[in-house]
Amino acid sequence: MKEAGLLGLGATVIGSLPACGTKEAETAQVPSAREWTSDPEWLKVKYGEWSGPGVPVGPGPMDQVLLKDYAPRSSVIAPQTFIPKAKFPVIDIHLHHYPAQEKGKRPKEALEEWIKTMDEVGIEKSVILTVATGSQFDMMVDFYLNSYPDRFQLFCGIEKKDIDKLDYPERAVKELERCYSLGARGVGEVTDKGYGITGDPRLAPNERMHFDDVRLDTFWRKCAELNIPVNLHLADHPSSWQPPDVYQERTPIFQQFNQFGSDGVPYDELLDYLPKLLTKHPDTTFIACHLANLGNDLARLGQTLDAYPNLFLDISARDYEIGRQPRAASKFLAQYSDRVMFGTDMGMDKGMYQGWWRLLESADEHMPGRSWWRYYGLELPDEVLRKLYRENALKILNWT
Ligand SMILES: [Zn+2]
Repeated sequence: MKEAGLLGLGATVIGSLPACGTKEAETAQVPSAREWTSDPEWLKVKYGEWSGPGVPVGPGPMDQVLLKDYAPRSSVIAPQTFIPKAKFPVIDIHLHHYPAQEKGKRPKEALEEWIKTMDEVGIEKSVILTVATGSQFDMMVDFYLNSYPDRFQLFCGIEKKDIDKLDYPERAVKELERCYSLGARGVGEVTDKGYGITGDPRLAPNERMHFDDVRLDTFWRKCAELNIPVNLHLADHPSSWQPPDVYQERTPIFQQFNQFGSDGVPYDELLDYLPKLLTKHPDTTFIACHLANLGNDLARLGQTLDAYPNLFLDISARDYEIGRQPRAASKFLAQYSDRVMFGTDMGMDKGMYQGWWRLLESADEHMPGRSWWRYYGLELPDEVLRKLYRENALKILNWT
């Protein structure tokens, strides 16, 4: 069941609480609401300086409403801007092989529909992080590049077989060169959520291969030599390492990613791999996806960008971070306008793209989003949007 916490963001997990918490967490006593309302810490976390709801808390039918079902209908009457197409052409740098996941449709059919959607919403090019090597990668080349070379760019994966064998570094580089010769123009996404890049929880801690592992040195150097960037997924949202209890920041939708109590490397230690890697390989371009999983701490993220000129970011799947701190996020995206790229990582729906345009381009307030909190539009200026949407990708990615 540990795998539940290791699945990619796009994965669907059916079921309730994943059993990656400790025994204590699973059997933790959840006191009744009455007990919580007199708990000073709970009051502080819930109400801040307001110190309470200001009305007596009494029993009623809403006591039967489950958190996972709660979907409050807002009474706010405010502008709702519909932005069907992005203001400028967009390169989406974070996507996966979605057409193969469409139920009841042939992949080619799904691909053609996707291109139609891309045209409608203003996506010029999509970068597929295939995570694939070998024949799997060859299939992607045939699927995307042979049919629509102008609309897609492919990143290949990294060899993950037999990482304990002496010839691993050489094998990994050889496969990279082969994928490059077929058209790969980046590597990714390479993920470490605590168990190393193979994501295998059965490996003992000393067998896991994290980003700064010597076995990967020649690989990262080869990426620099070929002038191809690497898309890294390090750690996950910090709430994933917090207990699935009343203080958990995210609602049950995200509990499939919870790895509280797992024996993988914890969040804070995982983040340390990034500066180690960036120092060791200053000539290699790294793109830390999902705002490096530091979207909750933009000051720290800015300091990291200041310290490492070979680090870039994508904003994929972090709509709920920038949407809940629109002023700080706008400032951040303006200050680091040369370092951040647009990505989605959320499938092929037209509405999803349009949700992004509304978030980035409009000044709408109190918008529903993918988390329990509401989003606020960033109203980014044109020069920031242009770089975020396209110009940075043209500079940082290898389009030859
Ligand atoms: Zn992804």
